[in-house]
Amino acid sequence: MIETGQTMLLDRSPGFGVYIHWPFCAAKCPYCDFNSHVRHQLVDQERFARAFETELATMRARTGPREVTSIFLGGGTPSLMKPETVGAVLEAVAKNWTVPAGIEVTLEANPSSVEAERFRGYRTAGVNRVSLGVQALNDKDLRFLGRLHNVEEALHAIGLARDIFPRLSFDLIYARPGQTPEAWRAELEQAIGHAADHLSLYQLTIEEGTPFHALHAARKFVIPDNDQAADLYALTQEVTAAHGLPAYEISNHARPGAESRHNLTYWRYGEYVGVGPGAHGRFVENGRRTVTVAEKMPETWANLVEARGHGVTGGEVLTRAEEADEFLLMGLRLAEGIDLQRYETLAGRGLSTARLSVLQEEGLVAPVGNARLRATTAGMIVLDAVVADLAR
Ligand code: SF4
Repeated sequence: MIETGQTMLLDRSPGFGVYIHWPFCAAKCPYCDFNSHVRHQLVDQERFARAFETELATMRARTGPREVTSIFLGGGTPSLMKPETVGAVLEAVAKNWTVPAGIEVTLEANPSSVEAERFRGYRTAGVNRVSLGVQALNDKDLRFLGRLHNVEEALHAIGLARDIFPRLSFDLIYARPGQTPEAWRAELEQAIGHAADHLSLYQLTIEEGTPFHALHAARKFVIPDNDQAADLYALTQEVTAAHGLPAYEISNHARPGAESRHNLTYWRYGEYVGVGPGAHGRFVENGRRTVTVAEKMPETWANLVEARGHGVTGGEVLTRAEEADEFLLMGLRLAEGIDLQRYETLAGRGLSTARLSVLQEEGLVAPVGNARLRATTAGMIVLDAVVADLAR
């Protein structure tokens, strides 16, 4: 069993996670490109709980018996699930695989007062960590981001979550229109004052197909340019590190030992099953790493599960080279970097020493002892380009 604390930091085994996707939201945020849907009639939660149970059993048949290292209920807005729905899903996970006591069980929650009322029920159901979508600590920006809560509700939800759950994280979005470094520093320091031991800090990005994409293209608002965003990123690293919450991943900060076990499984290139509309999975089947991708539309997904036991409509078996590329892409997001030997085993060759020395001279990557390689702060800002260069 992997408990929180220093043991976890030392344990670099990638793990086996279970991800459950709850695809519904009370409203669609204008920047969001996740698989989330708004329904104006009540969602039939019992039907979805049954479909999750069915798809979990199908996944179990594919993975065989395994020991689960973390469970994550993401979305969408999982805090719209009734505690009984969450309980039924967690029981179904335990019916299919070994779930050691005390493993990390995270639920993403929005901090509206209605959702906070369910926190005790989630704790009773087995959730021991919540990740709150706070996003901003100023009401004007919360309205701009289309959020349904205000700062007062967010702070109330944080306080309640700290009382109820052993572990808590919350998200903020920065590099918002007109946000100065001084304003971000003050907001971040305020957030750290309320934080427990984990914060996720994302830059506002404009995704195609979202309302923000059209508004941004029409110049209805302007976000910080690349240089300003890079300065805000560097400031974020400085402030969080100074307060004992250093980045362990490009956007995630924790006190040592409080890192998200589930997300580390993704970044350390572990295995996970994904269940629910639009969920992705990656696990070893017949000796090969297999990708699963589920139908995105919730009702269509449920129909498929009812008809044939699963809603998987896409995926592939990865080649060794594809596995090596993914390993690089995920692992270099981490402050601990990648294990060079594991890369070599996957790729069948080591990284090019010529490219490595150029990137090192440019200050974008750095060795960690003899066995590992990490991206520097400058490298994290241009990580996609660094990975593309190394993977060639
Ligand atoms: S609450 Fe989260 S998942 Fe739902 S629309 Fe907003 S950002 Fe997207």
